[in-house]
Amino acid sequence: MENFDAIIVGGSFAGLSVASRMRGNILLIDKKKIGTNQTSACCTILSVIKNLGCQDSILQELDTIILHTDWGDLTFKLPIPFCTFDYQKLSQGMAKKIDAKIIKAQVLGREGKRVITDKGKFQSECIVDASGWKAHLIKDRDKDFVKKKCLSFAIETTLDYKAENLHFWITPELVRKGVGWLFPCGESSRFGVGSYEGVTDLNKKLDLFLSKFELNIDSVHPVRSNPPPSGSDASSGKERRTGTSNGVHGGFFPHQLREPVIDGIFLVGDSAGQCMALSGEGIREAIHFGQVCGGLIHKVIERKLPLEQAQRMYRDHVLKYRKAFNIMLKFQSILINLPNFWLTQVLRLLSKDIIFRPVMLKYETIM
Ligand SMILES: Cc1cc2nc3c(=O)[nH]c(=O)nc-3n(C[C@H](O)[C@H](O)[C@H](O)COP(=O)(O)OP(=O)(O)OC[C@H]3O[C@@H](n4cnc5c(N)ncnc54)[C@H](O)[C@@H]3O)c2cc1C
Repeated sequence: MENFDAIIVGGSFAGLSVASRMRGNILLIDKKKIGTNQTSACCTILSVIKNLGCQDSILQELDTIILHTDWGDLTFKLPIPFCTFDYQKLSQGMAKKIDAKIIKAQVLGREGKRVITDKGKFQSECIVDASGWKAHLIKDRDKDFVKKKCLSFAIETTLDYKAENLHFWITPELVRKGVGWLFPCGESSRFGVGSYEGVTDLNKKLDLFLSKFELNIDSVHPVRSNPPPSGSDASSGKERRTGTSNGVHGGFFPHQLREPVIDGIFLVGDSAGQCMALSGEGIREAIHFGQVCGGLIHKVIERKLPLEQAQRMYRDHVLKYRKAFNIMLKFQSILINLPNFWLTQVLRLLSKDIIFRPVMLKYETIM
């Protein structure tokens, strides 16, 4: 059986970030070719992508969010620019910079310090689970680890549609306790619907959402003629046209922080619940905690730090952010339960520059 200095399961945001901070005999395992398993709408703070040196993956820079509710449209000016990016380009750009053996294999589970895959067993003292919300190396050991009530669910598709701003629709008619979104990506836009309750039956909701823009997933089908939602660039219809979808992707994402070290295994990204409630933002977190975890494992490989101490330090670092994760979860629980009218009033207040600007500047510094 092959032995490695470290084994990382999962080659997305978290796994690639862990690998980016280590050198040695490293194995990175993913069931798919790197960059081909996009689940995300891929929107994050612009500087995050720039800091990775992957500017060529940026699709569109964005400085305004428009929220649409049953009671009006609200504009939020972002004090820090966001961007949408190309998942494949970013992942492959990150993969080029790492020094690891990458194999395509399905991870089936774990026996102590051995990772079992459909391509054989691999062994290491340092094992990282960056396999996403299912936490493949832990879930079989602890049946309660992945709690359905702590998961949100969303799906999206990309269609030819130009827009200037990030848009969210918070209307119970679309998804109860959920949102619809439009994220512009240059010539196209990502359209998605998500449920904070983890409801998975969203295909019809996505259809309904697209019909508001006179779009549909399969361009062969007749285009519906419902009017688009009122206000803003998303409804001006100026640049609206139908296009061919790249299919529908998505899945679950956690909204509650989990234990970051279990049974001697490091957990990073969604596998450790490192995705913010309410905003559903998990990319920045996966990258941040991935880099910290990778840096500590590198010291273990170099024999500068005992493994147990690295695990304690990683756990302590993650738990420093527990308060921020809990605050976002509290906001999520309160806001999704407010009647749409009162939610609109709260959001109207929050959209004021004097409130939103400092909140966002603080939010940026969390990671
Ligand atoms: C529809 C949707 C939209 C989202 N939009 C945004 C957004 O705009 N901005 C944002 O910040 N966050 C967003 N999120 C959340 C974000 O996508 C996640 O938090 C982020 O992807 C977590 O990264 P990760 O590397 O931990 O896990 P993942 O990205 O889920 O990657 C897990 C990796 O593990 C691999 N893997 C899984 N199982 C196995 C196995 N058994 N064997 C081998 N390999 C395996 C997978 O192929 C994958 O490459 C969104 C989520 C969804 C579902």
